[in-house]
Amino acid sequence: MESKRSTVRDLRRHNRSALLSKLFLDGPLSRHELSGPTGLSAATVSNVIGGLIDEGLVVEAGMVDSDGGRPRVLLRVNPAYGHVVGVDVGETGIKVELFDLTMTRLATADHPLPGPRPEPDAVADRIVAGLAEVLKSAGVDASDVLGMGIGVPGTVEQGSPVLVHAPTLGWDSVALGKMLASEGVTIPVFFENGAKTLGQAEMWFGAGRGARYAVITLVGSGIGAAITDGQIYRGVTSSAGEWGHTTVVYGGRACRCGSRGCLEAYAGAEAILERYRQARRGRRDQQGDEQSRLAALLAAAPRSAVAEQVLAETAEYLGAGIANLINLFNPERIVLGGWAGLALGEQLLPAIRKAAEAHALAHPYGQTTIELCELGQDAVAVGAATLPIGEPAYWRPPPLGPVWLLRRAIAEPRSRLAAPRKSPHSAAMKAFPRHHQPTPESRLSSHRNNQTGPSSTLLGCFGVSSRSFFCCYSGQCVA
Ligand SMILES: [Zn+2]
Repeated sequence: MESKRSTVRDLRRHNRSALLSKLFLDGPLSRHELSGPTGLSAATVSNVIGGLIDEGLVVEAGMVDSDGGRPRVLLRVNPAYGHVVGVDVGETGIKVELFDLTMTRLATADHPLPGPRPEPDAVADRIVAGLAEVLKSAGVDASDVLGMGIGVPGTVEQGSPVLVHAPTLGWDSVALGKMLASEGVTIPVFFENGAKTLGQAEMWFGAGRGARYAVITLVGSGIGAAITDGQIYRGVTSSAGEWGHTTVVYGGRACRCGSRGCLEAYAGAEAILERYRQARRGRRDQQGDEQSRLAALLAAAPRSAVAEQVLAETAEYLGAGIANLINLFNPERIVLGGWAGLALGEQLLPAIRKAAEAHALAHPYGQTTIELCELGQDAVAVGAATLPIGEPAYWRPPPLGPVWLLRRAIAEPRSRLAAPRKSPHSAAMKAFPRHHQPTPESRLSSHRNNQTGPSSTLLGCFGVSSRSFFCCYSGQCVA
């Protein structure tokens, strides 16, 4: 009898999972449109959707014409079901962003990093301040936040407590979560390497959509990467993807990691500016932060042979590094991201592609495209905000797919998660007919421009389409 009950429960979970997944990824959809792809009967769809609407997890989203019949009601995941926060602890600043459950950005707060090697508690202070600012700005109560994801420039050792190892910040085994808790943060907090959160954001919403085998790179002052074949590859202690510390010149320039000849020691922004300074026989370039100095170097290239040479060599180093990725991982797509990656790529992408072609094996190179990141400089924070939504890194199997919180809701109908309520921005999320749905481009620009327009289908752009999401991991469902 117990076995029969658990089978019925598992089946119910699976049905909820399948429908929520489809709505989250491809909504708004009508009940009719949900039936075919999920393989569920019209009666089952109607029954399960009714329950999800009662729980506030799904809402109606306008009407769509059917062929000659009555207009059909569209459905989608309720954006006001809860909020998530994404934090990018970068090498120069801290960005805190608040999103609703459809990843519409509601508020942003930026704080400079307190020095190049900041004390962890000073960083925790600024995260707490940023969190308070975005909540106040959007009029959202902390109790409505389902979780906060934090992307950090280092290795994240998942455990209890989570430890952050970030040599570039001077951090070794820092329990940042404990510091946040001691400052009164009570919402669930998740940590991940910033390159991996950027990778997740680009795979779900950006240049990685539609690809399964991809490498998303982050080029800033330092260099990292996220390697995915549907799941991000982590290695035994989650440090995989340290592309910046692969050797491109044996015995070459000293790297911040203590080794020599690393890609980062040539093509990271700090290294590029140092090579430029040396090429100018020690004369400093203009004052300012790395971002403005790299922009000045790029602007100087048309009239300065020295600048042009430094950039040409940078394209060669990046191209050689990308060729290594191609030869090792046989990806279908490589995405160049990070603030420096974007700045360099806009000017040097043809040269980078040419260098990659020269260094990679011909066949795998022919299967790969090399593209620029689409989500801009906010991608790390966007990806971090998906950590509470997507499966946390220490869960199994890791991201690029399921929706953890909604999975909890699947497993715990009418759970303790935030009760549905009318959000202050719900007017901006009002229903819109199918033919008014934004194009992928307009969704992205809406995303970038911090508008609260109808971007609920942003999550419909997940790139990993061949997997079954929302698996309840009960062991019964076909993941
Ligand atoms: Zn290194």
